[in-house]
Amino acid sequence: MAAMHLPVFGAIKVAVRVRPLTPQESLNHVHTSVEVDEDNSYVIAAESRQNQPRKFTFDEVLGPTCSQALVFSKCVAHSVDAFFDGYNSTVMAYGQTGSGKTHTMSQIVPEVVRNLFQAIDARKEDGTQCHLVIQYVELYNEELRDLLLVAKVPAQANQASPPSSGGRGDHPLLGSSTSYRTASNINIRETAEGEIFLEGCREIPVNNAFELMSWIAAGNAVRSTAVTHLNETSSRSHSILILSLQQQLPPSPDSGEVEILSSKLNLIDLAGSERTKKSRVEGSRLKEAVSINQGLLALGNVISALGDVQRRGCHVPYRDSKLTRMLQDSLGGNSFTTLIACVSGSFDNLEETLNTLKYANRARNI
Ligand code: ADP
Ligand code: MG
Repeated sequence: MAAMHLPVFGAIKVAVRVRPLTPQESLNHVHTSVEVDEDNSYVIAAESRQNQPRKFTFDEVLGPTCSQALVFSKCVAHSVDAFFDGYNSTVMAYGQTGSGKTHTMSQIVPEVVRNLFQAIDARKEDGTQCHLVIQYVELYNEELRDLLLVAKVPAQANQASPPSSGGRGDHPLLGSSTSYRTASNINIRETAEGEIFLEGCREIPVNNAFELMSWIAAGNAVRSTAVTHLNETSSRSHSILILSLQQQLPPSPDSGEVEILSSKLNLIDLAGSERTKKSRVEGSRLKEAVSINQGLLALGNVISALGDVQRRGCHVPYRDSKLTRMLQDSLGGNSFTTLIACVSGSFDNLEETLNTLKYANRARNI
């Protein structure tokens, strides 16, 4: 059995997930570039022309055959617990395009939703009232877009199954052909208490798993229509699902006082971490490539500063990017963060795999 790593406040938990070779890669007899030891949580990257084999140790290592249930229990369950205990949490998938970020997050999200409503129902019996709100944004070229801005109210809950995500054209929960226009004036603001909020971003209360999944599907559809209409690739944007919970605890028997717990859970599918070759990039694409690297670079710097005990209490450069600024109250401090670094097991991707392992290793900062 793998050692259990109990979450520590402000600590970043770093997991590496190695995706299996695709059928095409297997067909082409592609060699694998990494060797994993899940029990001892390490990854050995193969030797290449430039590099000797190298061993990296992480909090969790999830190999190519790792089940969805194990991903959830090892990487996400403690964030859901923390969320109900009133703490902010962030779970994010990092890695090059094609490494399994979206696959991983789309396995995690429904499981989170199921667990949330189970916990909400259990709390109801104890007299705790829970209010859950969803926000869903995309960060592209340092511009925040509201993926739910034009989404419509889901039809009666508990009917049929939620609409599937993705695809072009009209979506049951979206308006007409203008639905890809998601631009809005969202400002990242901070309260006197240091809470971050997105001014101008739609907040939608949800009452059950069906409604929540429907809104997520609607946001995903907006995202993919934007990709189609605006000629973008989703690999260049960060998608950020924010769930905010308010729990009104039953009045204290002594004082009669009512306590309210507020917390946030951010589920993030980060932009592809691959280095874009300058020669292949022109004009607006160049701007994209540069700003993405800035966001991921800033994230790496923030995480590294948080993990560096010497620098505790010193400057953490949250303001260097919108990504880190909007996560300021959910990274470090009184919160839990899990970075799931996704890598392809294919030898062809060894250089990017090494870059991801180094990034994740730096985030772990030991
Ligand atoms: P990314 O979002 O990082 O660009 P994807 O999640 O789209 O990558 O994954 C790329 C491809 O690999 C997809 O076809 C996906 O279904 C497949 N894939 C990724 N991770 C796994 C996994 N753990 N098991 C099986 N297939 C996977
Ligand atoms: Mg993806």
